[in-house]
Amino acid sequence: MIGRFAPSPTGPLHFGSLVAALGSYLAVRSVGGKWLLRVEDLDPPRVVPGAADEILNLLDYLGFAWDGDIVWQSQRYDYYHEMLSELDRSGWLFRCSCSRREILASAPHSGEEGPVYPGTCRRGPVKPEGQTAIRIRVPDEIVAFCDGIQGGQKQNLEREVGDFVLYRADGQFAYQLAVVADDIAAGVTQVVRGADLLFSTPRQIFLYRCFGRVSPDYYHLPLALGASREKLSKRDGPKVVVTKNNGGALMWEALKYLGQDPPLALRGAPPGDILGWGLRYFCLANIPADNMIVDFC
Ligand code: GLU
Repeated sequence: MIGRFAPSPTGPLHFGSLVAALGSYLAVRSVGGKWLLRVEDLDPPRVVPGAADEILNLLDYLGFAWDGDIVWQSQRYDYYHEMLSELDRSGWLFRCSCSRREILASAPHSGEEGPVYPGTCRRGPVKPEGQTAIRIRVPDEIVAFCDGIQGGQKQNLEREVGDFVLYRADGQFAYQLAVVADDIAAGVTQVVRGADLLFSTPRQIFLYRCFGRVSPDYYHLPLALGASREKLSKRDGPKVVVTKNNGGALMWEALKYLGQDPPLALRGAPPGDILGWGLRYFCLANIPADNMIVDFC
């Protein structure tokens, strides 16, 4: 089994990302599998300088041990180009000149992540002379899968999302392509991550099919919420940001959050001991599905 943790270096490691790191680590390592680390620094304007090194140092300090070399998405543009060309040969891709505003204006209805793309440029870009994005044409079919935590899921890609972007008009590869390309390259068989990515998963499964590959098993962890019921972020105060000082205590809280039952006496123990307890006693089936407000901050 091969699992992975793929943080985006858009800020410091916070409790929500620690839950994802811990969940993905224990799920695969407690059964003797490999755990890989990938820095998702694909989108330069969102990358915070120094954040990646800080996250990696902290993970190391907390006792997480990864297999192989760390993958940096910013260094893999050639590989993403190759993967995009592979899809292009199959005839599923098209150039699109629509701006977000135009899509909003002509979209039949709103999907969870903005308007559903109405297929405007399927037969060729309406304004071919400008910068164009590359989209993949999706079928009017349901993609269904069984998530190991959230249960049965289904989505009609054409009606709920629309043809989606793989290469942006500003010259960046889209997350959906990069994540699938990277997981394929690494042979990832188990994806454990936050439930905010549940809605993206059918798009990713569709891409696996386009590449003629078998998709991994998916486990979407409940999202840690702040008092405002929004996904936890550093806006929720300094206590949610993981540091060397609070790392052990937050790891203990993260185990509780994942439905495990670490002994109270372990709360003040060194992070490595808490992780060691997790490796021995972790039970994937105990992870709850519902998002929860984090009340210790
Ligand atoms: N980089 C994404 C995040 O930090 C995770 C992507 C994934 O696990 O597929 O939310």
